[in-house]
Amino acid sequence: MSEARIYDVPPEWAASAYVDESRYQAMYEASVADPEAFWGEHGKRIGWFKPYTLVKNTRYAPDVSIRWYEDGTTNVAWNCVDRHVAERGERTAIIWEGDDPAESRHITYRELSGHVQRFANVLKSQGVGKGDRVTLYMPMIPEAAYAMLACARIGAIHSVVFGGFSPEALAGRIADCASAVVITADEGVRGGRKIPLKANVDAACAKAGGVASVIVVRRTGAPVAMAAGRDHFYDDLAAAVPAECPCEEMDAEDPLFILYTSGSTGKPKGVLHTTAGYLVYAAMTHHYVFDYHDDDIYWCTADVGWVTGHSYIVYGPLANGATTLMFEGVPNYPSVSRFWQVVDKHKVSIFYTAPTAIRALMGAGEEPVKATSRASLRLLGSVGEPINPEAWEWYHRVVGDHRCPIVDTWWQTETGGILISPLPGATALKPGSATRPFFGIRPEIVDGEGKVLSGACQGNLVIADSWPGQMRTVYGDHQRFFDTYFAAYKGKYFTGDGCRRDEDGYYWITGRVDDVINVSGHRMGTAEVESALVAHELVSEAAVVGYPHDLKGQGIYAYVTLMAGSSGDDGLRKELVAWVRREIGPIASPDHIQFAPGLPKTRSGKIMRRILRKIAEDDFGALGDISTLADPAVVDDLIANRRNKI
Ligand code: ATP
Ligand code: MG
Repeated sequence: MSEARIYDVPPEWAASAYVDESRYQAMYEASVADPEAFWGEHGKRIGWFKPYTLVKNTRYAPDVSIRWYEDGTTNVAWNCVDRHVAERGERTAIIWEGDDPAESRHITYRELSGHVQRFANVLKSQGVGKGDRVTLYMPMIPEAAYAMLACARIGAIHSVVFGGFSPEALAGRIADCASAVVITADEGVRGGRKIPLKANVDAACAKAGGVASVIVVRRTGAPVAMAAGRDHFYDDLAAAVPAECPCEEMDAEDPLFILYTSGSTGKPKGVLHTTAGYLVYAAMTHHYVFDYHDDDIYWCTADVGWVTGHSYIVYGPLANGATTLMFEGVPNYPSVSRFWQVVDKHKVSIFYTAPTAIRALMGAGEEPVKATSRASLRLLGSVGEPINPEAWEWYHRVVGDHRCPIVDTWWQTETGGILISPLPGATALKPGSATRPFFGIRPEIVDGEGKVLSGACQGNLVIADSWPGQMRTVYGDHQRFFDTYFAAYKGKYFTGDGCRRDEDGYYWITGRVDDVINVSGHRMGTAEVESALVAHELVSEAAVVGYPHDLKGQGIYAYVTLMAGSSGDDGLRKELVAWVRREIGPIASPDHIQFAPGLPKTRSGKIMRRILRKIAEDDFGALGDISTLADPAVVDDLIANRRNKI
């Protein structure tokens, strides 16, 4: 691929950020030379009821056991709320922006404290105690954050299920962790449409069984069926409980939450995170990666149903006493300018979103962005998938007016927080690269046999040592935890992602290892070929998979979505093939290009190549679990319009 452009750290950033290049080097070296001392020091960034004397007690082989700060006690809600009330009680903790642009609210830390305590007492009134699992199936309203913090306050373990999931998917997740209590809303509102959350919960409870109590927050006030004895409106319960609720003293390693992974690759896993290490890591990465300062207004567009929402809407920012914006709506309602209108309305200075949103907005052109000011923005972030250099450049030029560094943050539900990312005052940027490891993170690239590769190389990404935010187990299945992440490469955490390291030591995520294509013995990540396609002016999105090919082993099958208003024909196919040959080389030439109006995506917006691979292989009968797809109808279209291979 053509040499990446480098964006040097703007001098004003190097001067004002917490970390510049020399400090990054010094802190990074200290963090890997003596993790015990480094994390011993940084553990103090949160408050403790009983201070820890032990810092790190972790092993990846012969079995896996991960414990951090294990003799300390604390409480996550105390850290995210109570701790700030004295100093900054009147400061806004949450800015809520409704789906309807006319609706927004500011909630101060003092108000947040009141809401969380009352919600905690409501949970207690339903019999919830320490260690009990509570499933949340909520829209993006402040009550979702109150409920999460209320669980943390009393030591209950929350499992947030994204409000876009079907009743079947919800039922599976309720049953897997045996939740007796479900918190939901009458309806959700997104993009001007209502989502029947309570009705979905009813269907899920019928399927899952075992749910004794459903707490219903009124969002729209629509009439909903209420099962006598089981279902209660939150307001009614809240009116009957005391205002104050003390914090439970939690051990550092007590569970905080379960979160089921988004399901790009197969059966969802109940990722378990615990209390102290998770919070230290979420807070610390939020502080350094976003260079969060007290006067920032910070907005992460994720949903609380994903780990990004947990770590970077709720826990990290609130632990830091930040103002965090919670958005109920979608990027294209009422218009495709919405994100930027919200930025202007609330003077957002740090903006964190996903490549899927950037690519979609890019398809609508520059006008809707340029119609807004965005003068308050100083930093942009990306997470969820590799960001194609083309989309990166657009984000930088059009959204950030060349002014805002972009932090491309690589991490996973399993990692709890960001592992590889630029630090805006320290790291020169290369579009498409997540750049360098965060403090304490030891990435390695290994080949199929586990041999550690050095220098510039490409292979599988593993992490050689533990960090405090790491998941501790798969809920109820510790063996699966070991088998999935620690069996492939002894003594290392296997991420499942492919990765390239360049001559500057920068990391480039090439896609999931399962998606790697092997053409005539050349291993290729999907990200590179897709980025080349997306760089063509008529292409809005692309997904590339391998399929069996008699001569080459695997051929390249590309699904391409064109820009609004363009249409595909054989001429454009030839042009795109020639384009990719030029951008990467003949080895990467697609053997087949299918124009597709939409690509199958998970509900978190990621392309599900597993399904595209099956279609390319003519294996329509075995598409596997497609219940986590945002729009299953896309699949029928792809099958129907599949053309014979070139
Ligand atoms: P499942 O594990 O159920 O298949 P998932 O992997 O999509 O779902 P997440 O934990 O939300 O669930 O996503 C983590 C994955 O997303 C990473 O392993 C990586 O493949 C991809 N990813 C996240 N951020 C980036 C990034 N900045 N650059 C490249 N890839 C990224
Ligand atoms: Mg994953």
